[in-house]
Amino acid sequence: MKSFDVIVIGGGPGGYVGAIRCAQLDLKTACVEKSATLGGTCLNIGCIPSKALLESSERFASAKHTAAEHGVKIGEVGLDLDVMHDRRRAIVGKLTGGVEMLLKKNKVDRLHGLGRIVGRVDGQWHVAVKADDGSEETVSANNIIIATGSEPVALRGVAFDYERIVDSTGALEFPEVPKHLILVGAGVIGLELGSVWSRLGSKVTVLEYLDRILPGMDAEIAKEAHKSLARQGLEFVMGARVQAAERTGDTVKVSWLDKDGASHSIDGDRVLIAVGRRPYTDGLGLEAAGIEVDDRGRIVVDGELQTSAAGIFAVGDVIRGAMLAHKAEEEGVAVAETLAGLRAHMNYDAIPSVVYTHPEVASVGKTEEELTEAGIPYVKGRFRFGSNGRAMALGESEGLVKILAHAETDRVLGAHIFGARAGDLIAELATAINFGASSEDVARTCHAHPTLAEVVWEAAMDCSKRSIHK
Ligand code: FAD
Ligand code: NAD
Repeated sequence: MKSFDVIVIGGGPGGYVGAIRCAQLDLKTACVEKSATLGGTCLNIGCIPSKALLESSERFASAKHTAAEHGVKIGEVGLDLDVMHDRRRAIVGKLTGGVEMLLKKNKVDRLHGLGRIVGRVDGQWHVAVKADDGSEETVSANNIIIATGSEPVALRGVAFDYERIVDSTGALEFPEVPKHLILVGAGVIGLELGSVWSRLGSKVTVLEYLDRILPGMDAEIAKEAHKSLARQGLEFVMGARVQAAERTGDTVKVSWLDKDGASHSIDGDRVLIAVGRRPYTDGLGLEAAGIEVDDRGRIVVDGELQTSAAGIFAVGDVIRGAMLAHKAEEEGVAVAETLAGLRAHMNYDAIPSVVYTHPEVASVGKTEEELTEAGIPYVKGRFRFGSNGRAMALGESEGLVKILAHAETDRVLGAHIFGARAGDLIAELATAINFGASSEDVARTCHAHPTLAEVVWEAAMDCSKRSIHK
């Protein structure tokens, strides 16, 4: 039987990054992945393909709608969706192949098959790896890292047919631009993929149960994004509790109840159900190993990310916290370092979150609502992109940066951005939070001119009401 220091189950961002870090720290490591390609949800059907389509569709929309403002004459703009899809697949192929190479380079054994924890024998955990042809090999290790990720939640009363009624994977693969795309859920997936198809010409209707979009994000910022997306043509129906989706030929009728209980319906040719994701632990053998899960199916872990079974750790979407690739990666690294005897630490307050709409929404640390609820006194600095020279030159004057700092210590507690390249701008504020910086530290840092980063700088100055251009 092959024996390792660590077996990682799952080859997504949590798993493959954790495996590489283990190997860097001289731990003999195997990574078990059931799919033919590594990279997990993120590289194969999540972050990367969705961002490829977001970029392509944005270029299409800007060629069509804004190039002329810059004096660029293009003529008739056409769409070749097959080329767009081929480009997306090529990027995914390059990245998943790259991960394969990285595992080889770091001497991580890549085991192809479904991993199942069988039990512990003489202090060694045994994992059965079932190949696609049904054959099984058992391997053992001192420690296991579970990184099996998540899967889309289905909506009660609505069955996926994976053609007209799809999850996010299906919505990346539509063979033609839907005439009318109905989205259930105004969360991250709905708004990103809704933006893609809206830019390419679909009528998009978003049915959302709550009275706001992007639950969990700062309410003021989410409101700005909501208005902007509505201006871009996405139609929102709020307070809609979706009950059913029935397909007749190529048409799907989606019905819902509004807040007063009145029933409504609408017809579309494609429906994307994006109402959240849940941890994926099918066939993993959690019971055999005595691993506890909570009421939402998440593997319970302690502060060191160890499960209720000694020597078995879990990271990423399969445990509590935000379902984000970089959070999974950080946790994979933290567990590897713990196993190598180093002191590892996760700062969950410094994990940024980005929604890749146009403009982008980005957030790190506490929202205003969270600070108010916790009774933490705070000051607020705000600055809009509208008066920033670079934003004007880019034609990207929409949105604002908001920084929340402790009213007494001035320590940055949260930052929220709606605006161009918010996903890049938030990095500075994640660093500030991680280093325990004050808003004054950010305000006293020289920011290059003319850059969008000056909006962050002005917002930091606004925390002490000394913004220059306000
Ligand atoms: P996963 O990436 O899900 O990987 C788990 C892996 O484990 C999979 O490859 C699976 O095949 C394998 N596996 C499961 N069970 C077994 C088993 N028993 N044996 C062997 N292998 C097994 N996050 C961001 O941060 N930014 C984004 O822009 C972003 N965009 C997204 C867009 C979409 C459409 C979706 C769906 C998600 C997006 N996410 C994004 C979320 C991100 O993909 C996940 O948070 C991230 O992939 C979680 O990493 P993970 O390693 O925990 O799990
Ligand atoms: P989500 O939790 O972000 O949003 C789901 C939305 O569906 C919520 O607004 C919810 O109120 C709504 N909803 C739930 N039930 C409903 C019903 N019956 N009728 C109408 N609306 C209903 O979930 P998601 O968009 O599916 O994304 C899943 C996860 O994937 C997220 O947690 C996110 O972390 C991750 N993700 C991240 C990114 C990114 O970082 N850019 C991109 C895509 C996905």
